[in-house]
Parts: sequence; structure tokens; C-alpha cells
Amino acid sequence: MSTAPKRPSELRRLEQATKLQNVLYEIRGPVNAEAERMEAEGHRILKLNTGNPAAFGFEPPDTIVQDMISGLPAAAGYAQSKGIPSARRAVVARYELVPGFPGFDIDDVYLGNGVSELITMTTQALLNEGDEVLIPAPDYPLWTAATTLAGGKAVHYLCDEEDDWQPSIEDIESKITERTKAIVVINPNNPTGAVYTREVLQKIVDIAREHSLLVLADEIYDKILYDDAVHINLASLCPDLLCITFNGLSKAYRCAGYRSGWMVLTGPKGHAESFIEGLNLLASTRLCANVPAQYGIQVALSGRQSIDDLVLPGGRLLEQRNVAYEKLNEIPGVSCVKPMGALYAFPRLDPNVHEIHDDEQFMFDLLRSEKIHLVQGTGMNWPAPDHFRVVTLPWARDLSAAIERLGNFLASYKQ
Ligand code: PLP
Repeated sequence: MSTAPKRPSELRRLEQATKLQNVLYEIRGPVNAEAERMEAEGHRILKLNTGNPAAFGFEPPDTIVQDMISGLPAAAGYAQSKGIPSARRAVVARYELVPGFPGFDIDDVYLGNGVSELITMTTQALLNEGDEVLIPAPDYPLWTAATTLAGGKAVHYLCDEEDDWQPSIEDIESKITERTKAIVVINPNNPTGAVYTREVLQKIVDIAREHSLLVLADEIYDKILYDDAVHINLASLCPDLLCITFNGLSKAYRCAGYRSGWMVLTGPKGHAESFIEGLNLLASTRLCANVPAQYGIQVALSGRQSIDDLVLPGGRLLEQRNVAYEKLNEIPGVSCVKPMGALYAFPRLDPNVHEIHDDEQFMFDLLRSEKIHLVQGTGMNWPAPDHFRVVTLPWARDLSAAIERLGNFLASYKQ
């Protein structure tokens, strides 16, 4: 005898897991939902909420696409859980060219569905309830979300706007506790565009050494550098510490949608056998990363790097960075540190000129009025409602027009 069909009102409520309650990802949060609703109504929204190069006409190199296509027939089955050997070998070779980067072999390389998946795997493998991870403020908020979801506690260290957004060493030191297990360094930085100096990186490494911290180096923008900026891979400063370096194809190779990234473990591993076993377990349980995209890695990493043309004088990304920087600083009550890398600017709203108490509301109001979708600073774990992030990916002309509209909007905006 079958049971009678239920009416919807009789079904037990399904609540989301409580562990999600403090997990925030504002880049695709409520403002984004409103933008999507408006788009469905036929509005054209300028979406400056994600660093998605392909959406702004930046095409991936043909050779990546060609190698993925020719690899497709071989890519139908699961691959090794860490990834196909040719791609992992190419990752090893890439870092062999970086002066001082500690040696490692293909067993130390893990491929993932973007850096995002590898961040989640790392925090899940590492953290027990209440373990602390030092994460920059402002941050790329996935680090905070993944730490929280793993049961850890994200402890934010301040980056100093007055010091070109370099991390504040005093603040890092003041936030170390017995529970601190790792420090995250995002360099070049999302959202500030800062490229960290050797001195600052050296001091961070000294702190990590003193407190035996795992070093997590998110270097997904390491080839997106402007003017005379020089990027120093953090692992090269700490060959005596376990360091995980994250990178991938999404940004410099303009194919975020293929979901392809890697992480490499360098330094001593004997003390971390159990953690690494955890990483291997998590890599195995997801079987493998998206295989077709793995076939794009070898060719991406070898030979001429087409990203260089985009950031050198005359390059599109450099031109757009310049426009964003100049135009934002022209708005009364707005100031912006010059981004030296990555794809973003993180301007400040002078509270004496623009009294904004709720920066999410500001983003909603801007979206509804100007059809421009940005992310508020607090969505990137900045402690005050006085910043927002601009993605510098649109064509210079469009970016310039959008920032002008933003300025006009701000001129009469009151909360
Ligand atoms: N890390 C940083 C600092 C990022 O800005 C992003 C994406 O914006 C990611 C990681 C995620 O990249 P992926 O597309 O490889 O998952």
C-alpha cells in the first residue's frame, strides 16, 4: 500500500546546514541576485563583480584551446586524482625557471577545478574546530569562506592603505595566537592590486618561521604586473617551511570557465605527513579535476606568454588600469592607491564627503540607478563601509564612462 501524496505545506522544512551560517561570498551575493533579476527583466548591467577576463573580450591563447580539443578523446575517463602527469610536469618546469624557487616534483603538484577547489581542499584538510588562519583584510573572500566552512576561524590582518596596501606586520604579529595554524598571502592582491615588497614578504616569512605556520601563497595574478612591479614568489623566501603556492589558468590565460588551477607543495614535509595524507584523501574523493582543461596546462606554461603583451606599454590591461586609477581619483571624495598588479582597484570613499553607513545598500542603489554592479568593501572583509572594488577588465572607453557615471551618482547620493 503506498502512502498518500503530501501537500507542499506538509513537508518538513529543509534548513541549510548551520555550518553555512557565517559563510559569506558577496561577489555572488544578494547584489548579484538583484543584478540577475534585473537582467532577466531586460536591463543591461555592467558586471564588475568578478574578475572574469573572457567576459570582457579577453580570449584565451588559441594553443590552449587547440590542445584541449585534441586531448578531448583521451579526456573522457577519470584521470589520476592529482592530475595528468604531463600537466603536472609542466607545472614543475614552470617553477624551475623562477630563481630560488625550492625544487619539487610532480607528486607535490595537485591540479584542481580552479584554485577555488584547491583552497577548499586545503582548508578542509588542515583545520579543526577553532583553528585560526591569518587572512588579509581586505581579502579575496573565498579564503575566509572556506576557512569558516572548514570549522576554522578567519583572523584578518590589516593591509595598510597608507603604505600602498602592504600588509601591516605589527597587525599580523598582534593576531598570532596558540591556535594560529597558517597564514594566507595574496600577492599580487585581489582586491587592492598591491604587489608586496621583498622586505614585507621577508618579515611575513620570519613570523611564519617563528610560529611554525603553514604558508599559503595565492599567486594567481603573478604574471599580471604593471609598470616596474616585480613579483617575488613567497616559496622562494621560505625553502625551510612548508609552503603551498596556488595558481591557475583563470586570469593570466583568460579561461576562468575551463576551471583549471594547481597548487604545489614546497619545503619540508616530514612534520606534515598527516596533513598531506588528508590532502591526498580529499583529492581522491573528488576523483579528479576536470580533465579536458588539464590538457591546456602544458602548452599554456611553455613558450611565449601572451599575457605580457597585455600588461606592457600599449597593452589593454595596462591602459585599463591607468584609466581606472585616473578616473577614480578625479571623483571628489574618492581616492585610490595605484594598483601595481592584478585586475582590480579598491578605492576609498572619504567619510567626510560621502557618508555611507551601509556599503551593501550603496551597491544596491548604484546597481538600480546606474546598472553598474560592483562589490562593497565589507564583502571583502574590509572592516568599514568606506571602500568598494572595481574590476578593471572593461575596455578603457567603457570603464571610463562607467566611472564617470559612478561619480555623477555619488555627487547626489545620500544614505
Ligand atoms: N584567488 C584569487 C586571489 C582570486 O582572485 C580568484 C578569482 O578571482 C581565485 C583565487 C579563484 O580562481 P579560480 O578561477 O582558479 O578558481
